[in-house]
Amino acid sequence: MSDTTDRHVEKPALNLTLQGIAGSPGIAIGKAYLVEREDGGVVEKRFVEQKNIPSEVRRFKEAVKKAQKQLQDVIDEVPAEFRDHIYILDAHMMLLKDRKIYNGTIDYIKQEKVNAEWASKMVVDEVKAIFMKMPNPYFRDRGSDIAHIYKLILDNLLGTEPSNISGIDKRVITISHDLSPAETTQMPLEKVKAFLTDLGSQTSHTGIIARSLEIPAVLGLGNATKLIKTDDFIIVDGSAGVVILDPDDETLTRYQERKDRFDRYQAMITRSSHLPAETTDRFLLTVMANIGVLEDVVSVIDHGGDGIGLYRTEFLYLNRPTPPSEQELFDNYRDVAEIMAPRPVTIRTLDIGGDKFASGLQLAEEMNPALGLRAIRFSLQSPEIFETQLRAILRAANLGNVRILFPMISEVDEIIQAKQMLNQAAESLEKAGIPYGANVKVGAMIEVPSAVIMADILAKEVDFFSIGTNDLIQYSLAIDRVNKQVSHLYQPLHPAVLRMVRRVVEAAREAGIQVYMCGEMAGDPGNLPVLLGMELDAISMNPISIPAIKMLVRLVSLKESKLLLEEALKKPTATEVIKLMQDTYGPSFPKAPFSQHSRD
Ligand code: PEP
Ligand code: MG
Repeated sequence: MSDTTDRHVEKPALNLTLQGIAGSPGIAIGKAYLVEREDGGVVEKRFVEQKNIPSEVRRFKEAVKKAQKQLQDVIDEVPAEFRDHIYILDAHMMLLKDRKIYNGTIDYIKQEKVNAEWASKMVVDEVKAIFMKMPNPYFRDRGSDIAHIYKLILDNLLGTEPSNISGIDKRVITISHDLSPAETTQMPLEKVKAFLTDLGSQTSHTGIIARSLEIPAVLGLGNATKLIKTDDFIIVDGSAGVVILDPDDETLTRYQERKDRFDRYQAMITRSSHLPAETTDRFLLTVMANIGVLEDVVSVIDHGGDGIGLYRTEFLYLNRPTPPSEQELFDNYRDVAEIMAPRPVTIRTLDIGGDKFASGLQLAEEMNPALGLRAIRFSLQSPEIFETQLRAILRAANLGNVRILFPMISEVDEIIQAKQMLNQAAESLEKAGIPYGANVKVGAMIEVPSAVIMADILAKEVDFFSIGTNDLIQYSLAIDRVNKQVSHLYQPLHPAVLRMVRRVVEAAREAGIQVYMCGEMAGDPGNLPVLLGMELDAISMNPISIPAIKMLVRLVSLKESKLLLEEALKKPTATEVIKLMQDTYGPSFPKAPFSQHSRD
């Protein structure tokens, strides 16, 4: 097979396994290409005489200007397959001008009388530390964006050549310490079989880009750039987060077979992803997508999403000194609504604060941010920001099938107040003669235990519920959702979670409203049988999870899923719920979902 022809077999195989983070699924086999080593460039502190301070400041400004030009050149030449990701480069462009970094560095040079390299390192380290302390991994990973733009500036100050990766001339597996979005977009993609990085996690941009390009990736490998050299022969399993350096024959054959199986399976599920997800007894489950930026819509359509079940709207508020204007928000929401129409688009109002952060909004430091001023609590206390967003959503609702979703509702008064604000926003648009969508459906996120218990009361105030299991699990099981130390206790199939979901579904049914689920739990094939048994109206997930979930829905019946759920609800632990599913669907469930069952 062509993948194995690159291999030299002269000495005994090393067969060394490296474990990293599964960044993007799929298997690649081939030769390594080391993009860069960790920039060991130690930045030295130099004192600058008072008379030379202005020229040091000028040196810094010129380095930034040059970095802007370099980034603009990359943006101008972005190949078609990367168009979706330009927003990442735009964000980097904005970071180059970020007041805290730009003015902060100039002030540091002047006050401390030091060289520009040292000043920018100090300022960048400080800003990076703020991001790194954030509990939400998405925002922690934004620290690496700052590192990328810092490296650009530093290269210009030191006169170092940026790494040249556009010249890769054969099909390779790239290995880098970290890979900036600008570097990723410069890669000749057709030559890249897989990405490996020392740094990064699932939510780093290399992972996001690799997943949407469907190129396997293993991230967070620690020291891959030290262990692997250009031309080494390696296997990458992006689904398991594993890399095997210099595999033996048996391992190679096993992975070659696995790769063929994976590629066939992927082709099969993608072909059928545009068909409805209907069980064998004709229960239709709507399978929608969670998105965070406008550009994700392409992936939703490519993967057969039946609509957008959750549009997280925080990102437009990031990396800027002031919140976005109504027009900017409207333009963005309108584009999503128009592209998706007539499919539904559920726009969630700002879920900022707590673990989610916006540079332009003044948020106090909190001891316990997950329980602090976040989401709807923040919006109700910031009526101007809230009303601007509500007006933009209402205007977009005139041009597509838009619904509105309020996050982190913990008591009915919050819904009542939010709806009052929505009415006010509608009235102000009416008065100004601006077209907007009347009768927009209003939903509440059910992600706080009090909302589960009060679901019957809340149901009277809204048109639909959306169960946010990410937070519901965090708050009900008292497990910090981003704390590695307790991640083994974060169990979506915990009977307490299943009972809460069931309770919310029952309250929705009694009130005659719809109920969806949009937490990560919904996109995991291992949870599908019990979730189907709940008879949710829709589930919403990362777009790339949609084809597999839709395919699995077609393998089972609602009737058997309901029986399974009844049994699961009696179990005392998540382990026993999983065992019940393994007894039903075969011992390798959920790794090989429903394999035994589908043969029946
Ligand atoms: C959730 O909490 O399940 C959810 C979907 O919202 P987020 O992950 O944005 O908090
Ligand atoms: Mg949430």
